[in-house]
Amino acid sequence: MSPHRDPVAVPQDIAVVGGGIAGMLAALLLARDGHRITVFERDDTDLPETADEAFEQWDRRGAPHARQSHALLARLRRILKDRAPDVLEMLAEQGATELTVERILPPGIEDRAPRPGDEELVLWCCRRLTIEWVLRRVVTAEPGVMWRRGVAVDGLVADGTDVRGIRLADGSEVLADLVVVGGGRNSPVMDWIAALGGKVQPTEEESEAGIIYLSRFYRLRDGHELPVLTERGAGGDLGYLGFAGFYGDNGTFSITFGVPTVDRELLALRDVDAWEAAVRTLSPLEPWTADGLADPITDVEAMARLTNRIRRFVVDGEPVATGLVVIGDAALTTNPWYGKGCSQAGIAAEALSAALREHGRDRVGVALAMDESMRRDLEPHYVVSCLQDADRIKLHTSSHEGSEPDPVAAATRDFIINGLLEATRVDADVFRAFFRSFNMLDDPTALLADPQVLAAAGAAHAAKDQRPPQPKLGPAREELLSVMASAAPLGR
Ligand SMILES: Cc1cc2nc3c(=O)[nH]c(=O)nc-3n(C[C@H](O)[C@H](O)[C@H](O)COP(=O)(O)OP(=O)(O)OC[C@H]3O[C@@H](n4cnc5c(N)ncnc54)[C@H](O)[C@@H]3O)c2cc1C
Repeated sequence: MSPHRDPVAVPQDIAVVGGGIAGMLAALLLARDGHRITVFERDDTDLPETADEAFEQWDRRGAPHARQSHALLARLRRILKDRAPDVLEMLAEQGATELTVERILPPGIEDRAPRPGDEELVLWCCRRLTIEWVLRRVVTAEPGVMWRRGVAVDGLVADGTDVRGIRLADGSEVLADLVVVGGGRNSPVMDWIAALGGKVQPTEEESEAGIIYLSRFYRLRDGHELPVLTERGAGGDLGYLGFAGFYGDNGTFSITFGVPTVDRELLALRDVDAWEAAVRTLSPLEPWTADGLADPITDVEAMARLTNRIRRFVVDGEPVATGLVVIGDAALTTNPWYGKGCSQAGIAAEALSAALREHGRDRVGVALAMDESMRRDLEPHYVVSCLQDADRIKLHTSSHEGSEPDPVAAATRDFIINGLLEATRVDADVFRAFFRSFNMLDDPTALLADPQVLAAAGAAHAAKDQRPPQPKLGPAREELLSVMASAAPLGR
């Protein structure tokens, strides 16, 4: 399918800082709108020949989470389908796993008839470096995009708070009609804005995600395939530890643990022998850990300091700067466990494309439109992420300290596990409503405001004591630690 191109009347020269997911999505959409884009990417690496080479060799030190498990939510897939179907086609060529609603409808749902809207309910699963590699190939081949690699941006060039370009690390300046910063979670963009000396400064809120990510990748042996979701799903929450299997591309998959930051002992999972022993205790992962199925292709990769963070660049109705737009992780992060980051980047890229169409060179108009999109399209998901994490952190802390659990957090978790999630396993409508919410197709508040969802979740919760006990997902914490210690004795 050919990409959507619909040039705007007033093309602009746009400097994009950072060639990660957000920078590339913005560059692609804006170039297809007819703007002239230059991407400045600090990492100085050739584009590898294949996705496998990218995974094995690509030096992406600018994105240290590039070898952590990723899945692409239906919201990003919708944006790509509308604006860049060629990216999806290339992902499919790379053997990315497409999870349609028919493939993942839980087996306990009797009504399996397709519904209007099902065509949107599609997740894509591949290695993060495969989506980066595909995007990089498409973006660098796109007429209207110039890619400058190995070029670090050091600050903004501005007339007061009216940004007119960027300053590079070598001291040179590049002028642009608009500067888009997609420099990721460690971007110093707040310092750059502070250096402009404006009287209105951006605001920032940050809270702990409460987990450390541990991931290990595997490659299927010839002739083997993973089942696309069994009755048990491919992950779960042991109460003291979360785990999930991620489908990949090119015959790969990964397994990830979300280790509570309060529980340092569980970080022994970083040892590959402890890891392999631990994953074999988890019943939903039995199809993923079967003997002879696959071989590991990485060690255990760890990623800490994960937070939910939101920055606002319009304060009390006033932009902190004009001619500047901040997108992706530099503007907003959510706990990666919810898989939203790349979709958040896509939403911001799409909002920027719309803002430039509507406001053109009206720099205040563009800033206000981006702020409105942040509040409307992104902030509700951020708020839910913060609330979920705050409750989980309270429960992990009390369980770890052996103290009484927080009653509200415990009741919320009970309702979600024994009410809402139980209803998604048997009710076709509730499953779809939950899928839409989790995949950012709907505002997350719509889910629990839906009377049908509430009634089904309430009924499932009321019947929880009548249901036979669920099979155990895995061992108790002490038992798991002992399995790990036998596989990898301390201090060996
Ligand atoms: C452990 C983990 C798991 C995740 N899992 C998922 C998932 O399953 N699904 C999902 O959708 N999201 C997931 N995410 C989130 C997702 O990876 C991020 O939201 C996404 O990478 C954000 O893209 P970005 O472009 O803002 O930042 P990045 O992708 O980090 O890119 C930033 C780029 O900017 C460059 N750069 C930085 N500073 C400069 C400078 N001064 N000059 C020039 N270049 C610069 C860097 O080199 C880098 O290339 C996960 C994140 C983590 C940490």
